[in-house]
Amino acid sequence: MRSRKTKFIFVTGGVVSSLGKGMASASMAALLENRGLDLTLVKLDPYINVDPGTMSPFQHGEVYVTDDGAETDLDLGHYERFTNAKMSRLNNFTTGRVYHSVIQKERRGEYLGKTVQVIPHITDEIKANIRAAAEGREVVLVEVGGTVGDIESLPFLEAIRQMRYDVGAGNACYVHLTLLPYIAAAGEVKTKPTQHSVMKLREIGIQPDILICRTDRPEISQEMKDKIAMFCNVEPGNVFVSPDVASIYMLPMELHRQGLDERLSEIMNIWTRGARLERWEGIVEKAMRPSKGEVKIAIVGKYVDLKEAYKSLNESLLHGGIANDVKVTLKYVDSQEVEAQGAQALLSDCHAVLVPGGFGVRGTEGKIAAVKYAREKKIPFFGICLGLQMAVIEYARHVLGLSQANSLEFDEKTPDPVVSLMESQQNVTDKGGTMRLGAYPCALKAGSLAQKLYGADLVSERHRHRFEVNNAYRNRLQEAGLVFSGVNTELNLVEMIELTDHPHFIGCQFHPEFQSKPWAAHPLFSGFIRAAQQQRDLRPA
Ligand code: GLN
Repeated sequence: MRSRKTKFIFVTGGVVSSLGKGMASASMAALLENRGLDLTLVKLDPYINVDPGTMSPFQHGEVYVTDDGAETDLDLGHYERFTNAKMSRLNNFTTGRVYHSVIQKERRGEYLGKTVQVIPHITDEIKANIRAAAEGREVVLVEVGGTVGDIESLPFLEAIRQMRYDVGAGNACYVHLTLLPYIAAAGEVKTKPTQHSVMKLREIGIQPDILICRTDRPEISQEMKDKIAMFCNVEPGNVFVSPDVASIYMLPMELHRQGLDERLSEIMNIWTRGARLERWEGIVEKAMRPSKGEVKIAIVGKYVDLKEAYKSLNESLLHGGIANDVKVTLKYVDSQEVEAQGAQALLSDCHAVLVPGGFGVRGTEGKIAAVKYAREKKIPFFGICLGLQMAVIEYARHVLGLSQANSLEFDEKTPDPVVSLMESQQNVTDKGGTMRLGAYPCALKAGSLAQKLYGADLVSERHRHRFEVNNAYRNRLQEAGLVFSGVNTELNLVEMIELTDHPHFIGCQFHPEFQSKPWAAHPLFSGFIRAAQQQRDLRPA
């Protein structure tokens, strides 16, 4: 059976959260993929929400959307950006989803009268989910969310413990991430938390094969690594460090330099070519030492304090910088501040303005003011999802003269709902998983800026929204000069807008940031950064 030969790498974390487990998993996957292996990644999240789609960005950060419309953890974004693996609803599971499915089976009588228990029923469900994602792959990296020692993680850890016996010892490898804190008063890096974290893992029957220790120190001595190996019962050569890096795209090369992919291959007995990392070297070179100066981009949004909420967006803008050999500096502007101080005061030091996706009325007037500023001053503008909706409202109000135009999301009584609820959404009451989600085709208008940037007539992009441009206003907006440069012909929906009397004004109803890679910037992002560069050269801020 093919699936029995799949090699499993289980990644856990200890001591503290936010160690960069997702990044380490993505980096290991990148290295193994570069050795020619066909792999995928799975993220297990130990919370009760069925998926993160209903969680606030303040709680959870970005919700990453896959082609098949799953609302997933933001780590899946790292996985897709670092590898060629395609993520789907098979690649992310929460405790809630596992229980939901087990309880549904119980109601259908599928357990034939048995008492349904955490072991074996929940753990079997977890293992079945992992195996479904693993089907046909040579390697699967399974990242367990949370921290060892949390009550919530236990069923996941128990499931991955069992899997070693299911798949055979040589086909499974456990990688544990920990922290080596530096205690300034003692002038020392401490290994005790790492020892305790591994002890906790071993208590539940998992002996890690490899340790990756996060540290803010540039060097960890061999002596220290040997001490960790001895106390944690791992081989001396199996202790690696993950130092702070100036760019996340340096991490695969850093781990390769220490020989991590070599060790993983040895442990799992996989014979491959060496990793070819020219592509990563090129990315890091361009990211660290761009030769064409700097552009400053304003992101006018609501979650200014939480860069996690715009993870893919930030990365895509950096990819646009890499593609254009320019440094991209992001200025987060709180849209409520724009309401208080005016757009000019906050945006005049930037070469381009981006209004990202979002929900809820707070700050929308500031976003509309930012669009107006960019449109009138002919500053490159990029509106994504809510950003497109803001641009349509702005155009309706200030060009078409419909002064009270709005979205039904923000004003149910507006006389001119230029953005309205899709017909398919009108009777939806459940909040979870019910938006327009996942990939839809978009036909691009011949001769439009969008078509030029994509170099294609038909593209596929991912969506996550309930509201749409109201077709009842399409003719009037078009007559007033707004170009509908992308449409979904089947559903008759506006997907992209642009302006002709403006150097670069684009809005899209979808989220292009979910499909950008460091070595292949999404065309809407590389085009936007190029426009910002031209703006800078034209009129230095
Ligand atoms: N709130 C808007 C809608 O639901 C936009 C959503 C978004 O930006 N992702 O249509």
